[in-house]
Amino acid sequence: MKRFFITAAVIIVLLMVVIVVRTLLHQPPAAIDIEQVEIELNETELAQHLSESIQFQTVSFQSPAYKDRSQFTGFISWVHSTFPLVHERLEYLQLNDTMLYRWPGSDASLKPILVTGHYDVVPVIPGTESLWKHPPFTGVIADGVIWGRGALDDKSGVVGILEATTYLLESGYQPTRTVYLSFGHDEEIGGSEGAAVVAAYLKEQGVQLAWSLDEGSFIFDGLISGVSSLVAAVNVAEKGSVNLDIVAEAEGGHSSMPPQKSAVTDLARAITKLEENPIPGGLEGPSAEMFDIFSRYMPFIPKALFANQWLFGGLIESQLSAAPTTNAMLRTTTAPTMLSGSVKSNVLPIEAIARVNFRIHPRDSMDSIENYVTDLVASDSITVHRRGGSDASPVSDWKAPGFAIIAHSMREIHGDIPVAPGLMIAASDSRHYGKVADNAYRFNPIRLTPELLTGFHGTNERISVTDYAQGVRGYVRILYHGSSN
Ligand SMILES: [Zn+2]
Repeated sequence: MKRFFITAAVIIVLLMVVIVVRTLLHQPPAAIDIEQVEIELNETELAQHLSESIQFQTVSFQSPAYKDRSQFTGFISWVHSTFPLVHERLEYLQLNDTMLYRWPGSDASLKPILVTGHYDVVPVIPGTESLWKHPPFTGVIADGVIWGRGALDDKSGVVGILEATTYLLESGYQPTRTVYLSFGHDEEIGGSEGAAVVAAYLKEQGVQLAWSLDEGSFIFDGLISGVSSLVAAVNVAEKGSVNLDIVAEAEGGHSSMPPQKSAVTDLARAITKLEENPIPGGLEGPSAEMFDIFSRYMPFIPKALFANQWLFGGLIESQLSAAPTTNAMLRTTTAPTMLSGSVKSNVLPIEAIARVNFRIHPRDSMDSIENYVTDLVASDSITVHRRGGSDASPVSDWKAPGFAIIAHSMREIHGDIPVAPGLMIAASDSRHYGKVADNAYRFNPIRLTPELLTGFHGTNERISVTDYAQGVRGYVRILYHGSSN
């Protein structure tokens, strides 16, 4: 008996030693000494320009009938007159209401890059206007903050790129590698008339991009729990999406004589089954790399968990699965969104339908999800039907030069911050641009804090003048390094 306790104690001590040693080895990489780059900008003028851009109500409504085209043409004219150097010195092509600029490089043998954003915005939900501290389309600048729809998504991207290009033109910079800039007008409704048309145009011209940079993730400040330094996550892939209709069929008839089993209860059971059987997932690919990098900056306990995934892998995955944002990084998500049954209260339905939206992780496909769901719920009375959709994007290489350029540029502005790849859980125009790019990166070089999150597609969207100016500096360095060799 005594021997057993001694053996157990020795094993526990050894285990603790392994855990502690692995945790102590799980450190940030050696500090890199990067020279900070000073970029002199007129911040008052930057804020003024962004404010003006917000005042154009370039809203993408789900129904094109509601589009106020004059706001879009107004914005385009404003870009041409506010950034005259860009408009005069770069080649310009307009595809529908999407703007495409080409800045020819001196070495035509190099594959071009594309830096892009979208200037359409989502509507402000009627009735929520009064929740805004400053009206959403007035571009108020108060106490060092620029307010309004598009301040983060994504007019700061579009106008920031134009400011950065102007800065480089004014300093006499001449790119070696050709740069394309595109500013989409319909990202919020799928990009089929904008980014998709630009990608088709580039393809037709025989242009294959070395890499593209579009909106996506940000420089997080306080968004990764336990990490106090700024961290940049550059998304290297985006999830796909597919709708499946689950259809339950039954006899129908008068509701005064219901059978024991109805289409509605059959359907309810199927939906419950889906909820109880989430699509299998796990920490792998860019998300695994991201947690590996960021956890090195965490306090001892979470660091110990990530440093010892051989032991705590299951615990980590169950913790991450419990929160919606991290769960979405791990797996294809299941969201029943629409239901229909009978058209009248005293008529039994002959068909009850649930539409379920799946956001597809790169490891899965529309086919594999349809098969999984069919295996799980299909029966004599239940069938599964696919309604449109698209697979996840390919995963871009985070060891490739484009990624390194973005990372280096961020460190020139913000010091030696960690930069990791990530997975985009929403959709962006990059699913179109990615078709003509070796690698597609999704990242805004702008600082984001937890308080700002509700602004995305929500209320009180805003950006501080300082953060915006730093974003412009980030774009300056990305454009410079991206095109100088
Ligand atoms: Zn956006």
